[in-house]
Amino acid sequence: MKKNLSFVMAVGWVFSLSLAGLAEAQTVEIGTWAGFRTAAVSFTFDDGPQSDVDIAMPMFEKYGYKATFNIVTGWVGAQGMLGWDGVKTLANAGHEIASHSDSHPQSGAMPSKEISTSKGKINQNIQQPYGCVTLAYPNCNTPGDAQVLQNYVLGRICNASWSGGSDIMSKNGPSNWAAVPAMMTGGNGTSDFKGNMQTAVQQGGWVAFLTHGFTTGTNGYANYSPTNASAMEEGLLYAKQNDSKIWVAPMGHVAMYIKERNASTATASTSGSSITVKLTHTIANDVSKYEYPLSLRIKNDNNWTAASGTQGGKAITVSIKDGYIYFDAVPNGGDIVISSGGSSTNPSSSASTQPTSSSAGQPLPGSSTSTITSAASITIEMEDYIQGGEGIGYSDLNGESDNTGYRIDDAGVVKVGTDGYAIGYTMAGEWFGYSVEAACDGQYSVVARAATGNASTTRFSVSVDNVAGSVAVDVPSTGDWNTYTEVEGSGTLKLSKGKNVVKVSIDQSYVNVDWIKLTSDNAQCPSNVTPQSSGSNGTINSASSNPQNPGANNPSGGDAPEAIYTAGDIRWNAFSGNVYCQVFDMKGQLLKSVSVPASQNATALWNSASAGLSKGVYLLRYGNRGSIRSVQVRK
Ligand SMILES: [Zn+2]
Repeated sequence: MKKNLSFVMAVGWVFSLSLAGLAEAQTVEIGTWAGFRTAAVSFTFDDGPQSDVDIAMPMFEKYGYKATFNIVTGWVGAQGMLGWDGVKTLANAGHEIASHSDSHPQSGAMPSKEISTSKGKINQNIQQPYGCVTLAYPNCNTPGDAQVLQNYVLGRICNASWSGGSDIMSKNGPSNWAAVPAMMTGGNGTSDFKGNMQTAVQQGGWVAFLTHGFTTGTNGYANYSPTNASAMEEGLLYAKQNDSKIWVAPMGHVAMYIKERNASTATASTSGSSITVKLTHTIANDVSKYEYPLSLRIKNDNNWTAASGTQGGKAITVSIKDGYIYFDAVPNGGDIVISSGGSSTNPSSSASTQPTSSSAGQPLPGSSTSTITSAASITIEMEDYIQGGEGIGYSDLNGESDNTGYRIDDAGVVKVGTDGYAIGYTMAGEWFGYSVEAACDGQYSVVARAATGNASTTRFSVSVDNVAGSVAVDVPSTGDWNTYTEVEGSGTLKLSKGKNVVKVSIDQSYVNVDWIKLTSDNAQCPSNVTPQSSGSNGTINSASSNPQNPGANNPSGGDAPEAIYTAGDIRWNAFSGNVYCQVFDMKGQLLKSVSVPASQNATALWNSASAGLSKGVYLLRYGNRGSIRSVQVRK
């Protein structure tokens, strides 16, 4: 039985701190999105008409969601527009109140002095937990990026696709925080809230919508591209039905979350029945303190059945599910202390007294006597395969790579983040060898950090040269080749004390693997084993796990290595509506999104998808609701 460590969510950054001898270090994960959801969605409303309170607010209340309302300070109180009391009503309901200038010119950019004056007026009139932190440009024209970012966490434009960009952002937000895209809704925009949310979920990204007034109600000056309220409500209903995947939150909150997530470090150490977590960032500017809560989780290694928590001595909500302890906490908000609430089932709690919330941040009674149970682990970086070239350290079938310069014998090394590497461009039948020094005999479990933009689960296997058997690692679709997740292999590997050659075989094409971690079940095993990678003289007996026939390691037998097709092989189902198609290069980079009516055919889709692409192999993901295919096509 395979166990996915983080199947339902893309996990952001992983940190750990080693405190061997004092307490057991724990890994803390920061959710890519709040609640470890898959995607973020923001709704923004421009201009400040009466319909914001009459129509939008009750609709959002119904689903428990918050939106961003961009106010033109000079229009407050005008005919059909909200007065400050109306704006306060929105703020008191928890919505974000943001700036949309003082004067809203009919065309062109707002006067640059209004960048700060509009913010000042809003902060004077409206109390908000984070103040006025976002600005939506009238007519989508920036009044000056640098000045905007001195005053706001973001500046919002309209559709990026109008100038060739993508309207759906990655998990790291826009490429320019002074040009955050939002999709126009209504008559001159989209009514497909659900479809765009689905795309955001597929990509693990963030989509924002931009709405003026509605087709009904009092809309004052907000009469551009009126939106059908029931179409929007269907979108909110869809989000609610997919609450485990979709995080709906105001723009400013999502922006703070992203910036904090990418700048924070989290460490944890467990002692007895308590875990102390430190969560900090060093973002320093005048715009915001960046204290929006981040979602964190720690593996529930001691099988606590209940837990409670505090941060800086104040209670926080803690929940336990799926083998993890979940909680939200504010960076730089003081030590977080999570305590077991169910001592009867906690095997380690008998040795120490139950900590109280007042002990936050202090060493806990019993911490010096807690047992260290960390078994030996070996982390193998996948880019550090054995030297010696093709047939010795690896078998590379396609010669593709990112040309990172990390290795001369480059068998497909790709970057991970800014300073990490992984193997990518993998094809079924390829393999990589690693020379590993094990400190003791034992059965070793396998955890891998991997990514695949394939639509379905993609497999590789780990084996030890000259030892029968292998551990299959199934990597669920992570949405793209740059979104990594940790997965556990099924079964264990036998390693012998001393040198072993560990082999990673690609069973199904296009999985990126960052590292694998082998952990011994032998508690006596010292934890100082190291992989011997670069410069080693290990060799691989390529016959032992049969890299020419990866299907032999695949008990399900159903997944033959994927062929590369020509356009004529794109299969056309009984699709309905529009057929959407995303085109990726072999790095997993989304190149374009196109759609054709289902009444057309595969040739029409291919013509649209392939237009402007140079010769090469591409991954097409196409289909419509509930019927998505992936196929590699050579142009
Ligand atoms: Zn406007």
